[in-house]
Amino acid sequence: MQHNDPDITLITPDAPMAAETHGGRAKCLQRLVRLDLPVPTTVALSFKAVRAIAAGDITCAEALLRPFGAHPLLCVRPSSEDPDWGGPRAVLNIGMNDAQFEALSERIGREAAAKLYLRFVQSYAIHVARLDPDDLDDVSDAPVKGLQEALDIYEDEAEEPFPQDPAVQLIEVLRSMARAWEGTTARLLRQAKGAPADAGLGLVVQSMALGVGQGECGSGVMQLVNSVSGERKITGRYLSQSQGRDALTSGAGAMYLERDPRGPSLEELAPEAFARLKSYTQLMREKLREEMQAEFTIENGEVFLLDGVRVVRNARAAVGIVVALAEDKIISREEALMRIEPRALNELLHRQVDPEAHRDVLAKGVAASPGAASGVIVFSPEAAQAHAAQGVASILVRRETSPEDIRGMHAAAAVLTERGGMTSHAAVIGRGIGLPCVVGASSLRFQTTRKLLTAPDGRVFREGDKITIDGTNGEVLAGEPALLEAGNLDSLRVLMAWADAVRDIEVRANADTPRDAETARWFNAEGIGLCRTEHMFFEADRLIVMREMIFAKTSKDRAAALERLLPMQRADFADLFRIMEGKPVCIRLLDPPLHEFLPTGRSGHRELAEALDLPLSDVTRRVEALGEYNPMLGMRGVRLGITVPEIYEMQARAIFEALLSQGEGRDPVVPEIMIPLVSASREVDLVKSRIDAVASAVRNESGREFTYRLGVMVETPRAALRAGDIAPKVAFLSFGTNDLTQMTYGLSRDDAGRFMSDYVQQGVYPEDPFHSLDVYGVGELLSLGAARARETNPNLVLSICGEHGGNPESIAFCRAAGFDYVSCSPFRVPVARLAAAQLAI
Ligand code: PEP
Ligand code: MG
Repeated sequence: MQHNDPDITLITPDAPMAAETHGGRAKCLQRLVRLDLPVPTTVALSFKAVRAIAAGDITCAEALLRPFGAHPLLCVRPSSEDPDWGGPRAVLNIGMNDAQFEALSERIGREAAAKLYLRFVQSYAIHVARLDPDDLDDVSDAPVKGLQEALDIYEDEAEEPFPQDPAVQLIEVLRSMARAWEGTTARLLRQAKGAPADAGLGLVVQSMALGVGQGECGSGVMQLVNSVSGERKITGRYLSQSQGRDALTSGAGAMYLERDPRGPSLEELAPEAFARLKSYTQLMREKLREEMQAEFTIENGEVFLLDGVRVVRNARAAVGIVVALAEDKIISREEALMRIEPRALNELLHRQVDPEAHRDVLAKGVAASPGAASGVIVFSPEAAQAHAAQGVASILVRRETSPEDIRGMHAAAAVLTERGGMTSHAAVIGRGIGLPCVVGASSLRFQTTRKLLTAPDGRVFREGDKITIDGTNGEVLAGEPALLEAGNLDSLRVLMAWADAVRDIEVRANADTPRDAETARWFNAEGIGLCRTEHMFFEADRLIVMREMIFAKTSKDRAAALERLLPMQRADFADLFRIMEGKPVCIRLLDPPLHEFLPTGRSGHRELAEALDLPLSDVTRRVEALGEYNPMLGMRGVRLGITVPEIYEMQARAIFEALLSQGEGRDPVVPEIMIPLVSASREVDLVKSRIDAVASAVRNESGREFTYRLGVMVETPRAALRAGDIAPKVAFLSFGTNDLTQMTYGLSRDDAGRFMSDYVQQGVYPEDPFHSLDVYGVGELLSLGAARARETNPNLVLSICGEHGGNPESIAFCRAAGFDYVSCSPFRVPVARLAAAQLAI
């Protein structure tokens, strides 16, 4: 094959070149050339040319060498379409041979010339001739001696002298790099990073700027921001008498760039070169519209730019970088918004295991609530509270959590459970309060009564041993690896304000307590989309009254207990209304199965018997009677409201009285009251008439007017199918996709964690449907329910409040289906706001 332009192209300002044909590095180098930056002569080989070389075509060597003169000294670097896909390592100093060594010795001294030649012989021997690296281990550190030894070893092992012809050297380097790209491991690695199976590799051949020799010579990298914090500060390293990225890898002798109290700097050593380099990097940022890292070489005081790469960054730095670029008018606000992956914000909002830290992974479960925390293992909520009282961080380890564990969860630094999935109790509460949580870690052996936790490798952990929970990726780690604190949120707030200006679907938060509501406001949620009132009853003083109410034998006894609960609820709602400052608050009437309020185990029963002054046998019998095999399908939700109507009546009264307790002059709150787990429209009629009656009574007693909105939570397939009947009776419908997913699949949200990863691995489900909305099944019920509801009530407000409300793909689905808002855990509100903005751009 005869290579003509554009497959082997000298990089000039107008040579035909694109990332899709020659790779990102070649395209970037052309941009630097267009900016008139001092880039050494470079030739780019297209994907097509590299494929031909891999297949054995070597006819290009002569053409390739032409631009580099008679005695070239070159380096070759990979240029894949996306730099993240990687590529074979760069080879430097191609063209070094005996003649070049003599000539260079005159120019830069024998030692320096030998160093360059030796470096090339070593990398050629290992990466091109594929000699065993161990064979070269013992060559002398003295360059001239070492060079001779390396040449001898090469000749022995390769059974031929080291090649002296630069054309042969170059073509062999190119061929080995081209073939390395086609190796199976390399292909699998890049495919894991999202590269297509047929991704191409380009190569760039560049004249060496030596970095070694007379005057100030060396190499390094410079960038204008810190890659971890995003802080605007010149960072990088410079190493005199070095090449490539030595300044970063060898460490010893490397100096700071900018003047620095911690040690010598390039700014002091070579102020002019430093100033020039800084202006080049700033120009790159401005014209390439990206924060760039400059790879440079200084040769006798003169600066060369060998390469520019996008600054590697974590999520915290990424937000700071795009906000600064937009504030400097280098990119638009919309572009800044589009450049951040919404999920990556989790990294910014929570502590993380330091990516540099060693991870001793014990097991992996479901990454149920992001963030990382270390602490001592505790096996009971009481122990978590006792540790918290002493200022000791603990990890609460349970087979699964129940509402009784909530106080312990508040006291713990993280939670680990054996059972459960994305919508199990621990997961929902964890996300709600920003507590790192791993659930469904069933490869660990949980012996909670014996207070033992055993890893699959046999290691046994006891109460008091230290572990770390990484809720961002679901890992359980031994010990305490270094953690990174949550990021600086100033830039995030700016970015969020830009997101709010463009998005067209509202974002509310699921918030149950005043503390959650404060968090929701802090994240600028536009209201509360779901207040799960059952979560208000787990404080010790309330739980006992709730239990009295459940155990009441007569309606008079029940009324007395409810009478005591009323002021507590009223105060809760008043707090929520105050904190939300007139923003909508959607309160769901009590939902859970009553047995969740009851103690488990004999000692719990005994305590309850004492508190209620009842015989133990009585308590045990009642608890057993209230137990259910299928608690999520039993006596819960509106079924409770129909059979024990006094509970909802008390809650409605508490809401209305709290409303009236709000000071005059505030934005009037219009509370939203939501009925859970509806499956028949008659349920709505019954509850509605009782709530209306309570409203009338409160109006009469107070002599004041108020309004409220009634809505239904669509959580059963039947409610979705019959949405057309329900819609005219209500002001809003909110899809509870946790229960809707559970019931559509017939899949218990508490037990699915046990087999979910097998199901996903074997492709039965593309993803955990509790995590990412199943748009085909559950999604069809959503679309169908929404369409039927809007047909009979066009003004209906539609929303989603299951855990999917914070998931970017699910938000896209809801927006397309014409929903008015999504509601998600407070800590996911920023993710949802950004995802919603991206959909509108
Ligand atoms: C739901 O079912 O989607 C929901 C939000 O309610 P909960 O998770 O409290 O059952
Ligand atoms: Mg539900």
